Order: sequence, then structure tokens, then C-alpha cells
Amino acid sequence: MRAPLLCPWAFAPEVRAIDFEALWAAGFRGLLFDVDNTLVPHGADATPEVDALFAQLKALGFRCLILSDNGPARLRRFLQNIDADFIDNAGKPRKKGYREALRRLGLPREQVVMIGDQLFTDILGANRCGIPNILVRYIGYDPDADPGKRRRLEAKILRRYEASPAMGRLNEAIRKEAPVYEQTEKAVL
Ligand SMILES: [Mg+2]
Repeated sequence: MRAPLLCPWAFAPEVRAIDFEALWAAGFRGLLFDVDNTLVPHGADATPEVDALFAQLKALGFRCLILSDNGPARLRRFLQNIDADFIDNAGKPRKKGYREALRRLGLPREQVVMIGDQLFTDILGANRCGIPNILVRYIGYDPDADPGKRRRLEAKILRRYEASPAMGRLNEAIRKEAPVYEQTEKAVL
């Protein structure tokens, strides 16, 4: 049975909890990243830690591309110390940006992973194009704060998928050597 289009292939509490070496070993060669609330808080510039992450990914051999609904000026500022291509105003979850991303990476969709914090944009668009994907908890997550209407709806949908094997499609690849993920894997959003 085909997995629902809003069901992520895996969940990680944050980008740092993803084992990129394991993803490489599993055969993935390209990474698409959302920016806002995935890599940095909304509207923020990259931190030295984010810069270092991209340097590490490049050293591993990954081709990285930023797929964002932001404008080009903001993305160029974000990428000033990062060697990665970008697609601005991507219009997620429309397929166009994802297809263009695959074309620019020169990789088949099976070798690419989309990483983002939103079900209705990042994950839905990736699933519509058959691109494996990882949902990360949005930066600024506070279990005691009111997350807002859209986030509540996302959490409700995720709870429905929590026990589904469809949501564990990438778990073996991202889990290995990722203790942060192990500790919090049950805390979906
Ligand atoms: Mg985002």
C-alpha cells in the first residue's frame, strides 16, 4: 500500500541528531534542506555550527542544496560561508522546485533526502516527488508553549503515523550512532 503523502519517512528531533555518515553508507548522495526553523530560527543567519555542518557534509561527499520559500537575498546571506546551491521562492509543496533540485544535483530521487520541519510543505512536496524525507522538530520547540493551530494539526497527523511502518522507512539509516535520536524518538513534535 502506498504511504500517505503527509507521512514522513523518518523523524529526528533536530538536524544534529541525524547520522549523515549512516545516510551516506545507505547510498544517499544528495541532501535538500529547508532553512527556517530547520537549520536556524525563522529569519536568522547561519551560525558557525551550521557552517561547520555543511563543511562536514561536503567532506563526506554529499551534494547539498537549499530548497526554500525565502527570497534570494536572504538565502545568499545565509549561505555566505557555505558552499551549497539554492533554489529560492521554491513554492513548496509544489513539485517544480524539487524537480529542479534533483536536476541540479544530477541525482535520482532515490539518492536524495529532503530535511525539513513542516509536514504541509517540506514533507508533502518531497512525497509528491517520491523523494525520501526526514521531518525534524521545528527550532524553538517548547513542550509547554502553545504551538499554534497549524503545529497542533501537524502533531495530530503525526500521532496517527507514529506506529506506522511507513514512518520508519529511513530509521535504520538515521538511527545508527545517533544517541540524541534514540533518547527522544518517542517525542513526536
Ligand atoms: Mg521551515
